[in-house]
Order: sequence, then structure tokens, then C-alpha cells
Amino acid sequence: MKVGFIGLGVMGWPMAANIAKGGHELVVFDLDREAAARFAAEAGGKAAGSVGEIAQADVVVTMLPTSKHVRRALVEDEGGAFLKAIKPGLVVIDMSSSEPGDTKQLGPILAEHGATLIDAPVSGARPRAITGTLALMIGGDDEAAIEKATPILQCMGDRLFRTGPLGSGHAMKALNNYVAATGLAAACEALLIGKRFGLEPEVMADILNVSTGKNFATENLLKQHIISGSFSAGFTLGLMTKDVTIAADLGEQVNLDAPISRLVRERFIQARDKVGAGRDNSACILAWDEDLG
Ligand code: NAD
Repeated sequence: MKVGFIGLGVMGWPMAANIAKGGHELVVFDLDREAAARFAAEAGGKAAGSVGEIAQADVVVTMLPTSKHVRRALVEDEGGAFLKAIKPGLVVIDMSSSEPGDTKQLGPILAEHGATLIDAPVSGARPRAITGTLALMIGGDDEAAIEKATPILQCMGDRLFRTGPLGSGHAMKALNNYVAATGLAAACEALLIGKRFGLEPEVMADILNVSTGKNFATENLLKQHIISGSFSAGFTLGLMTKDVTIAADLGEQVNLDAPISRLVRERFIQARDKVGAGRDNSACILAWDEDLG
């Protein structure tokens, strides 16, 4: 199949590289033209000269920071070049962690121009993007489109879940990251409380990781990125804050009293504004106790 790929960042680059390895004809695009050229030279495929060129593929993947970026790329950039150039029957897979309501609005816009949108956000971070073993949450209203996309999705993930209609994958992804962010916030608070009490951070991490407090953050962030001070896990505080905001907003939309989600949203907004949206998500702890860093 001819596959177009938009967004060659931390995640998009290795995901697109795995599509090329899967033997598909690949055309890539990024606002950072140098990154696209470097990708074509190093990983294969062709760098597109414009976003419109991407719309001539059979399947297009977007891996962009937020829904706004997805809308810009597919609807607004270059005077709507993508929409105008759509090859009838095109399937667009938005693998970004987008806002489910925005995804539901984008579907009909693409449909008017002959393309079908499905959402398939990912979990597993960069190491699993590299090995092609991401977990994928697939939402969509058109089974034939999902079937057409599946061989491409299988290049990037090995755990594929159908979550329901268009936007449901994006809802699930935000909820997953809310749970992960809550685990991270709790691990940071425990570390800071323990440190003031006189416990050793390294020893605390070792104990948590063989005890019932173990979670993704204790296993993958505490020692490697927080206690070491490297803060380089590869997922920004801005993106994490976006995800917990989507999840807490969803709780409000469905009228559930979900105070933990509201508090976690508030804590991450505070951390992002204090430490910086571009910093690693593990650096959230610096907003909560300046001494640790
Ligand atoms: P990133 O910022 O590293 O990459 C985004 C890329 O999109 C950049 O190369 C940027 O130049 C490009 N871009 C932005 N606007 C564009 C446009 N209009 N047209 C073309 N290119 C454009 O982001 P990332 O960390 O790869 O994350 C991408 C998505 O995946 C986000 O929604 C994020 O929440 C999600 N995600 C990230 C991780 C992670 O560990 N980093 C894990 C799972 C999911």
C-alpha cells in the first residue's frame, strides 16, 4: 500500500520507520522539512514537498501533538491542500492523542472530501514505538476502513484493541494517561514526603518496585529520570497535561463527580506552567518541591 505519514517527532519517526520496514511505499511530511529529508535518507521512503502530496496515498497516518495540529495539517495548512488532493477511498488514521470531540468533528469534514477517519492512539512510549510493539486503541465507524488500515497498524503495534465508534480510542488514551499521571503524581509526592521524613529516595524506589505501590512511574521514571535528575523520558509535560485535561474534561462532560481527575489536572497545569511545557513529564516534581532537582 502507499502510505502517507505526517509528524516525524519522538514517536512518529520510529513508527513511520516501521511502516517502511513493513515493505509499504512511504511518503512522509513534517513542518520541519529537514527532519523529513533526514528521515527519507536514513529510514527510507520519500519526503513530500507539500502536505497535499500526502493525500494521494491509500492510507495516511497523523502523529501530531494535539487535535489542533491535526486539524491544521489536514484542513488548514497550505490553503486546505490536503483536503483538495484527497484520493477517493483514502483512510486517515489519527494516531495522535487527540481530543475525542475534535475527532468526531473532523470525521465528517474528511468524509465530505472522500476520506474516512479512524482514531488509533498509542501507548508504550518511544522504546515500544521503536520495536513496533505499541498498544493501539482503535475507534471508528467504518469496518472496511479499519480492515484496510490494519496491516499498517500491525507494523507499529502488536496489541490492537477495538474501542468502539470514532473518537473512542482517543477517549481511552486520555483515560490511560490520566491513570499514568496519577501514578506519577503519587510517586512524586511519596518521594518528597519520604525525603523530608529522612528516607533515602533510591531505597524508596527499590521498595516500591517490589511492593504493591509499583506503577509505570515507579518502574520507569523514579530512578532513571527523577532521582538521577536526567528528566529525559521523551514525553513532554505539555503533552501529559493535555492528556489529563482531556480526561478530566471528559468526566465533566459525562457528569461524573471525579475529584481525583480534577486535582491531577490542576497539579499538572501548575507543573507545566511553572516548569515549562517543553520539559520532560518526569520534571513535574520540580514544581512540587524545588529542593529535589
Ligand atoms: P513531537 O512534538 O515529538 O512530534 C510532533 C511532530 O509533529 C514534530 O516533528 C512537528 O514538527 C510535527 N508537526 C506539528 N505540526 C505539524 C503540521 N501542521 N504539519 C506537519 N507536521 C507537524 O510529539 P510526540 O512526542 O511524537 O507525540 C505525538 C503524539 O503522540 C502526541 O499526541 C502525544 O501526546 C502522543 N504520544 C506521545 C508519546 C511519547 O512518549 N512521546 C507516547 C504516546 C503518545
